[in-house]
Amino acid sequence: MAVYKELSPSLRTIMTPGPVEVDPRVLRAMSFPVLGQFDPEFTSLMNNTMAMLRELYMTSNVWSYPVDGTSRSGIEAVLVSLIQPGDKVLVPVYGRFGHLLVEISERCGAEVVFVDTEWGKVFDPEEIIKAIHLHKPKLVAVVHGETSTGQMQSLADVGKVCRELDILLVVDAVATIGGTPVETDAWYLDAVIGGTQKCLSVPSGMAPITYNNRVEQQLMSRKTIERGLRDADGARAGERTIASNYLDLSQLQDYWGPARLNHHTEATSMLYGLYEGLRIVLREGLEARYQRHRINEQALMAGIEGMGLSLYGDLSSKLPMVTCIHIPQGIDGESVRNMLLYDFGIEIASSFGPLKGKIWRIGTMGFSCQRKNVLHVLGALEAVLRRHGCSVSSGEAVQAALDVYAGKGKEGVLC
Ligand SMILES: *Cc1c(COP(=O)(O)O)cnc(C)c1O
Repeated sequence: MAVYKELSPSLRTIMTPGPVEVDPRVLRAMSFPVLGQFDPEFTSLMNNTMAMLRELYMTSNVWSYPVDGTSRSGIEAVLVSLIQPGDKVLVPVYGRFGHLLVEISERCGAEVVFVDTEWGKVFDPEEIIKAIHLHKPKLVAVVHGETSTGQMQSLADVGKVCRELDILLVVDAVATIGGTPVETDAWYLDAVIGGTQKCLSVPSGMAPITYNNRVEQQLMSRKTIERGLRDADGARAGERTIASNYLDLSQLQDYWGPARLNHHTEATSMLYGLYEGLRIVLREGLEARYQRHRINEQALMAGIEGMGLSLYGDLSSKLPMVTCIHIPQGIDGESVRNMLLYDFGIEIASSFGPLKGKIWRIGTMGFSCQRKNVLHVLGALEAVLRRHGCSVSSGEAVQAALDVYAGKGKEGVLC
């Protein structure tokens, strides 16, 4: 019989756009004893998690709770619960995750219209607004922070127009939540999906979402109609039914709300992790956390440019928690990543599609977003590039980053 080794994963410095390093307090929380999912101790934990999510999402929405599954389960739950076959959905695409919104909407039977823009940039909000007026969709789905290109789309103007025209606005804030402001109510976002394994620094496995009463009304209109009967609008049983059972938000909210109706078995240990992760985020303070993400981003950018490399993408719309770097001519990007991993224990990311082999992506998210990690990755990357025969500086990268931390960066006093 085979004897398998005891599990002993290496301690890594994870500087990717997720999954990132997890706060040890979250890992400890996940090892606590399991509670039953209707145990009052557990349901009170659920209520407090919802309250913390409202703070994180800057919303008064009652419905702010996690869907079990990775972040895309939250995206899919919102879209499958809102889209009925034939509905028109507009998706502005500026990177890989925009295409995911297109694909999921199409699987839900939507008539998808998409507008796209060059990768490495975002839309001028007016372009999206023009498309909204032209196509008059039922729903607009858009990514807030595109991890594939390191870009962030501003949403407030689009939100206002959608609200005026009674169009639903669904936002993928998986990469941004907990690292930069996501102002659900102030920006008129109807449904927002976040991620755990990025700036919240909780392992992957849940998708915290929030949605308002405009969304809830749609869900209620799709509740199952009894066989043989018709609803007030004349729809027959099954006609409007949400196609997924697992991801049916009208059923999930009945478990998270006072009705406490049984649905699937809650991922209780995962909820311990999310609870502890949210507690740590709010304890740090949202403003302080956003500022920490900004400072480490500035230091990383200064270091990258200080060693002589160039940054990819439009810097005026740069996503604070992902920094994309042009791979220098003649350098094998994968060989550099391998040496970083095996000699320094550091993981950085490559990219997808048209950017594959052209850029590296360095994440500064959540618990991984620390001064020691930024300095470590800069020193290591410089050394590895020199080993690869690339003429970068020797020691300048770390010095440039230290200048930023000392308040001497290009952008003036930061710390
Ligand atoms: C990571 C990410 C996702 C997908 O998350 P999974 O947890 O892998 O399902 C979706 N959207 C964005 C913007 C992301 O960065």
